[in-house]
Amino acid sequence: MSEQDPLPGWNHTPNVPLQVSPVFRLPWKPGDIFRWFWSRWFWISEKLVFVGIALITVAWFQPPLEVTRSISIDWIVGLYVRNLLLFTAVAGSLHLYLYGWRAQGDRLKFDPRPLAARGKQFTLGGQVRDNMFWSLASGVTVWTGYEVLLFWAMANGYAPVLTWEASPLWFLALFFFIPIWESFYFYWIHRLLHWPPLYKRVHAVHHRNVNVGPWSGLSMHPVEHVIFLGSGLVHFIVPAAPVHILFHMQYLTLTAVTTHSGFEGLIVKDKNRLDLGTFHHQMHHRYFECNYGSLEVPWDKVFGSFHDGTVEANERMKERRKRIMG
Ligand SMILES: [Zn+2]
Ligand SMILES: [Zn+2]
Repeated sequence: MSEQDPLPGWNHTPNVPLQVSPVFRLPWKPGDIFRWFWSRWFWISEKLVFVGIALITVAWFQPPLEVTRSISIDWIVGLYVRNLLLFTAVAGSLHLYLYGWRAQGDRLKFDPRPLAARGKQFTLGGQVRDNMFWSLASGVTVWTGYEVLLFWAMANGYAPVLTWEASPLWFLALFFFIPIWESFYFYWIHRLLHWPPLYKRVHAVHHRNVNVGPWSGLSMHPVEHVIFLGSGLVHFIVPAAPVHILFHMQYLTLTAVTTHSGFEGLIVKDKNRLDLGTFHHQMHHRYFECNYGSLEVPWDKVFGSFHDGTVEANERMKERRKRIMG
């Protein structure tokens, strides 16, 4: 076995070593950068699907800022129900397709094991029930809470509002910027969550899932929801339109579903139609002390916590784990 070989113990691994964004690799290679963004956005990608969902939401399922100017139970309940249905539709249909019907069998599935049907560590006694409970009861509530706060603040002049007329270029660029900001932000809060006092009380709820499925993504302790979804507060400084707020919050919650789906992609009629999970984060759930961020911003590489999926990187991670534990 060569040191560049993929790791044993997995049903499927992507090509390794995993690559981080070429934006952060010098010297800059414009062709690589173009291909990176192109393959992550077109044609077709979950990012583009989520922009589509945000556009549909703002067109048909979003009260205008005149309404969100004053706090009222009517529109707040509306947002909550909308988010609950959206999240259940995305997580539920992926779960049914991949685990209920097993529509693509084990193809592109990272971990060979099934999800845990039972387990004392889980709320309500099973992994999927546990994950649904924390996602819907706490996750959707905190998510809606941030949307209420931001729409109310924008309507009252406490948060800057961006319009298409004022700056179409920035209006479009913001869709590309939000995932990069999220990757930047997520690394730091995730490292914080692995600080032992916070880990034990808070982040351990998410890490009950050593193997992950679509419902695991947003399955977190309420305190982690407040920290994780707090990414959206950046719009108290960075001007945005309601559609960007919706995209930002939906991106956080819905990519949590896809990155934890346990499968690298969605196979329909023998072809991978949509990239889903990342082996990068899947390894974090099994090995813990690696891959706190994502591949968009290479903090893991900078701070030596990057596991690129090779046997060599695995040895390095074991060494680091011994140091941290010991
Ligand atoms: Zn973690
Ligand atoms: Zn996770």
